[in-house]
Amino acid sequence: MSDSFDTLALAAQLVRVPSVTPDDRGCQAQLAARLERIGFKTEALNCGAVSNLYAKRGRAAPHLTFVGHTDVVPPGDADAWLYPPFSATVADGMLYGRGAADMKGSIAAMVTACERLFARGGAGFDGTLSMLITSDEEGPAVAGTRHALAELTERGETFQYCLVGEPTSEKTLADTIKVGRRGSLSATLTVRGQQGHVAYPQLADNPIHRAGPLVAHLAQYRWHDGDELFPDTALQISNIHAGVGADNVIPAELKLNFNIRYSPAQRAESLIHDIETLCRAHTDNCVIEWQEPSHPYHSQNGHFAELVGDAVYAELGTRARRSSSGGTSDGRFVASTGAEVVELGPLNATIHQVNECVSVRDLDRLSNIYQRVIEQLAAQHPLA
Ligand SMILES: [Zn+2]
Repeated sequence: MSDSFDTLALAAQLVRVPSVTPDDRGCQAQLAARLERIGFKTEALNCGAVSNLYAKRGRAAPHLTFVGHTDVVPPGDADAWLYPPFSATVADGMLYGRGAADMKGSIAAMVTACERLFARGGAGFDGTLSMLITSDEEGPAVAGTRHALAELTERGETFQYCLVGEPTSEKTLADTIKVGRRGSLSATLTVRGQQGHVAYPQLADNPIHRAGPLVAHLAQYRWHDGDELFPDTALQISNIHAGVGADNVIPAELKLNFNIRYSPAQRAESLIHDIETLCRAHTDNCVIEWQEPSHPYHSQNGHFAELVGDAVYAELGTRARRSSSGGTSDGRFVASTGAEVVELGPLNATIHQVNECVSVRDLDRLSNIYQRVIEQLAAQHPLA
């Protein structure tokens, strides 16, 4: 399948652009130009410093949307890399560079899959194909996919099937696809006391002593049992701070940060209620500031997940495991429109690390899998 349209070349071209969040630096313009050549209509749905590209071809059902991001996390210490992080060096069958796996490789594979279908007399596709690419996935994720979807749904756009190119594979290409993601809820807890001299504790109120049992309780609490797809809901404390630096002062307050990863069986509101109740049971003098939660999603329908699994099997002869592990993704925003969302991309072993890389062979195979997904969808939706 993939030979005439070089996924590696496009991936390398994108990796050479240092598009650290939210600065797209022209990556999306490159993609738009390629897609317009094969009949996509493209538009920019930018918001502030964030670039969003929506490209669409066709009107009829079914509608398949590819979702991705051109932004990358910073490379960190460039000297720690084997090759400069934006050089897109190919060595030992791997393409090295920041964003190679997360997720410029997948975006390149999506584009070349479409090119083979439409540019060289492929079977084509009578339904609707679209691509929604943001430069804000690794950042606050507010002005990106969420913003673009709000604008698109406002004008009546609907989404049916969605394939997110996040790097989901663990040991071998497409051994894992995601059909859901856990929610994420973060907060800062401040326990207040009364500052004083350590020699006169009766005149003070030590917030560290108050927080001790509360920390133990938070860490041990059984929040929710997982199931086949979603792991146990877990709370993790990430930062804790109190003290003025002197060893003879009882501090006035203690601050700690925690995060909860939770399954779609739970709602953020009830978690917030439970945690506030638990904290109040330990001390009246505390305040919790909650960040806006990232909601979980679970594409329950399963039809599209099955189709993607079949495309993987047709290309590789292996079966993909369904999972919901890992961090949040923009899939949650598309899922909230009612679309069935599946995530499939290259190996995630090096993402956000120095020496991020992706297998050149996997890029071609991924492009073939994406093409098969489109073709199988076409086969299942014969036009009346
Ligand atoms: Zn990503």
